[in-house]
Amino acid sequence: HRQFFVGGNWKSNGTQASVRELIEQVLNPTQIDFARVQVVVAPVSIHLQFARSLLKPEISVSAQNCSLTGPGAFTGEVAAEQIIDLGLSWTILGHSERRTLYGETDDVVSKKVNRALAHGLSVIACFGENLQEREANVTLDVVARQLAALKEGITDWSKVVLAYEPVWAIGTGRNATPEQAQEVHAMIRNWLGTNVSAEVAAHTRVIYGGSVTDQNAAQLIAQPDVDGFLVGGASLKPAFKVILEATN
Ligand code: 13P
Repeated sequence: HRQFFVGGNWKSNGTQASVRELIEQVLNPTQIDFARVQVVVAPVSIHLQFARSLLKPEISVSAQNCSLTGPGAFTGEVAAEQIIDLGLSWTILGHSERRTLYGETDDVVSKKVNRALAHGLSVIACFGENLQEREANVTLDVVARQLAALKEGITDWSKVVLAYEPVWAIGTGRNATPEQAQEVHAMIRNWLGTNVSAEVAAHTRVIYGGSVTDQNAAQLIAQPDVDGFLVGGASLKPAFKVILEATN
């Protein structure tokens, strides 16, 4: 079966002191079977090296975004080459906060994914419908459109984790029910089978994000097409240990 995958997206949170405390008190002491579950945490870019230096080697460190451009005169941007240069191998791309607050379109996200893969990064590619789209019953159309755009940029599916994150569930305390998550995850796998290949459909990890907590993780992970989580708020707390252990 697919290896589970749990990511902690720390967003724009933390200080050196809080990062150290989270790593030393929650992450490093967590006892799980790392052959069964891959664990990746994403600090702010200026904490990437600091977090890497403190974390045990079984836990990977990811960027939260990476530039559409290479190194050069692009003030404020971090290029894939620079993430690789730190010895890191992951980036999140297409998070809904990047899409809604910073104007990243399907096309920009797809091109970023393409560039990140070309430079050797693995990618946690995020997408999902907003509340208006869910209420209008167009969730599956929106997700299919986002997947089609991502597919244009993906040259190696073995280096991609798909993160389904319904926007209405992010930071709201209102998670998708296990049934709602399973419905969309099954549709995503079906889409991959039809539009990419049976092998990619069988092997690609499809993880869920949006108000995952220590209270709902076990029920969500029990769904056959939910291969793990991308956790925001709860990844900054001791609850993350419980979420990781839910995959055992
Ligand atoms: P919350 O877990 O805080 O809802 O955030 C989810 C998320 O956006 C992870 O990328």
